[in-house]
Amino acid sequence: MDIHFETIGIIRSCFKEKFGIPRQAGLVPAATATLELLPPYNQAEAFTGLEGFSHLWLLFLFHGNDRQSWKATVRPPRLGGNTRLGVFATRSPFRPNPIGLSAVELERIEQQSGKIILHLKGVDLLDGTPIIDIKPYLPYADAIATAKGGFAAEAPKGHLTVNFLPEPEQTCLTLEQGDYPDLRQLIVETLRNDPRPAYYQQRPQKNSFGMKLFDFDLRWEQDGDSITVTELHRSDR
Ligand code: SAM
Repeated sequence: MDIHFETIGIIRSCFKEKFGIPRQAGLVPAATATLELLPPYNQAEAFTGLEGFSHLWLLFLFHGNDRQSWKATVRPPRLGGNTRLGVFATRSPFRPNPIGLSAVELERIEQQSGKIILHLKGVDLLDGTPIIDIKPYLPYADAIATAKGGFAAEAPKGHLTVNFLPEPEQTCLTLEQGDYPDLRQLIVETLRNDPRPAYYQQRPQKNSFGMKLFDFDLRWEQDGDSITVTELHRSDR
């Protein structure tokens, strides 16, 4: 069967590259995005009633995958990247149909001059992600109190401590007074979940990493469970 889906909207997210994006929605509540609906889906009546829901399911395409192929087994970072599990037992982006599913917070719906923009929080989505459907999150049906979580029964601990050197701390404070009021919280929530590839979990030595957040280059050093933010400056890319 030849199946065809339309992109109904595009995500504009704080995450400009894949490295550093949380591994699941809701892990970084301060991670914001907007979803601008494309014509002909930007009709106000198509969203009537949605404002009553605090959370949404987004169905999307993993458009940033660097390969189209999939394998029957994958190595979840959650298990240290060494154990293979069936692709359908995981939320890996590399699946036969590269469709993602995220439950995100709906902060507000903006309607202005023919545009419909959903303001979202707690996203795990790359900037530019194409959305193929939106559904309201139904607590009575979707939050199953007795559900078993397999190898991912608990939320990741988010146990790393995050400190800033004085210069990035000052930059962050200045940016928070402008257009980025929750920037420090976003950085701390993102880094404390240990964005490093799984194989680093076995490497005790100190390492330096970087990611792009909004328009900024963020760099940090990690030594065991301790992270120090060393640089935060506007990106020239
Ligand atoms: N919540 C979704 C799900 O369960 O289908 C996504 C889970 S997946 C494990 C999350 C990872 O997908 C992120 O850490 C990021 O690296 C990657 N990702 C997010 N948006 C993407 C996109 N548009 N294209 C490719 N990879 C993406």
